Amino acid sequence: MMESQRVIVVGGDAGGMAAVSQIRKRRPNAEIIAFEKGDWTSYSACGIPFVVGGEVVGGVDRLVARTPEQHRANGVDLRMHQEVVSIDTAAGTVEVRHIDSGSTSYEPFDQLLLGTGGVPIRPDVEGIDLPFISGAHTLDDATWLADLAKSGGLEHVVIVGSGYIGLEMAEAFLHRGLKPTVIDRGPHPLSILEPELGAIVARALHANGVDYRPNHEVTGFAPDMVMTRDDAVRADLVVLGIGTGPNSALAKQAGLQLGVREAIVVDDRQQTSVDGIWAAGDCAESTHLISGTNMHLALGTYANKQARVAGINIGGGDARSARVLGTAITKFCDLEIAVSGLNSKLARMAGIDVVSQTIESSTKAGYYPGSSMMTIEVLVERRSGRLVGAQIVGGSGSAKRIDTCAVAMTAGMTVDQIVDLDLAYAPPFSPVWDPVAVAAREALKLL
Ligand SMILES: Cc1cc2nc3c(=O)[nH]c(=O)nc-3n(C[C@H](O)[C@H](O)[C@H](O)COP(=O)(O)OP(=O)(O)OC[C@H]3O[C@@H](n4cnc5c(N)ncnc54)[C@H](O)[C@@H]3O)c2cc1C
Repeated sequence: MMESQRVIVVGGDAGGMAAVSQIRKRRPNAEIIAFEKGDWTSYSACGIPFVVGGEVVGGVDRLVARTPEQHRANGVDLRMHQEVVSIDTAAGTVEVRHIDSGSTSYEPFDQLLLGTGGVPIRPDVEGIDLPFISGAHTLDDATWLADLAKSGGLEHVVIVGSGYIGLEMAEAFLHRGLKPTVIDRGPHPLSILEPELGAIVARALHANGVDYRPNHEVTGFAPDMVMTRDDAVRADLVVLGIGTGPNSALAKQAGLQLGVREAIVVDDRQQTSVDGIWAAGDCAESTHLISGTNMHLALGTYANKQARVAGINIGGGDARSARVLGTAITKFCDLEIAVSGLNSKLARMAGIDVVSQTIESSTKAGYYPGSSMMTIEVLVERRSGRLVGAQIVGGSGSAKRIDTCAVAMTAGMTVDQIVDLDLAYAPPFSPVWDPVAVAAREALKLL
């Protein structure tokens, strides 16, 4: 039997709590103490836009996968409304602020897992603290925004940022009968997209009644107004969706090594630069499979996987985090969007010489009801013919095809191997040549 250990987890969502069952399985006698400063545990921030838009009925409780009581029933000493404010790595203790009482206590640990998550980026401009400006990051944000959206008291909603959170929030307000304005300093929505695919998303924004303003940099806020370099836009509500940075202040204070955008540097076992201190989720770095560079990618998929790996290792096992492709998927109204691997800018930065091929195909057999168009762009390494990136924009049934591309990239497949993949076909699902295979076949011609 392994010796009993005192494991402290900081953060009550995926990056922390997804480790717990792995630790418990391997160290049945471990004392596991988790601190969460907020009101919720194991929740899906990914569901926030759908609560705000009203597609998910029943409020934010529907987004909670495991309540504090359920965690406690699983043997976790979960302490809510308690914030870890500092770490003494030499002494092996954390300092905890009890939010309700204002008191402080110190807790020793043998192993410490940081799952402190991310912080929404806020532009450093005048008026940023005005009360009509909200993030879309916490379940409290979701409740506030949903209540406002259905109150009937909103007319001018401005969303700053046209990344995936900005797009999903724009759709949410459309569902509530409003016509939001989306402002972005970039030339097209979703900056990771190649321009021609970004242009399709921009057209969908306009077609669905969004007042989309690219190349508009926000310079400040005044009551009822968003100022940009070029104009001013009326607003009774502003939602920020300009990205997520790592919440690594605690790690920084403790002297842990920080990397890209100050995300916590971890090895492939999720251990930080200090033995016995681990990190997972939005607070930590990931390593890109194709470029080999470290990145900060705030995705729920990584938080869950990294926490599982950290949990196995804290439990005495030996697990390694796989390198990532940045595979992501979203939708705006009827348009599905997905990416995986590098885009041409990232390929250039990584020094990978690529050819790119863009094709259009139908999502099902062209004659089958409900068939719609989709566009795939693939990036292929010129020298080897290996797929290094893929992007999809199209109608229903198109975007999940990105998973085929992700598997192919993980396996290091070349486009001629992808052409030969035995992909399923029947008219209600696909044309006889799957669009991924068509893109590979057309890319092959360029090599
Ligand atoms: C609107 C929205 C939509 C999203 N959609 C998707 C999607 O479709 N697909 C996808 O893959 N990802 C999506 N994401 C990202 C995904 O939600 C995050 O990657 C994931 O929640 C990260 O989990 P985490 O545990 O690392 O961080 P968080 O969820 O941020 O949790 C960290 C927790 O730690 C607590 N905490 C922080 N510091 C302390 C401290 N010092 N002491 C005690 N407690 C502390 C916080 O209160 C918080 O509860 C979305 C995010 C948002 C906001």
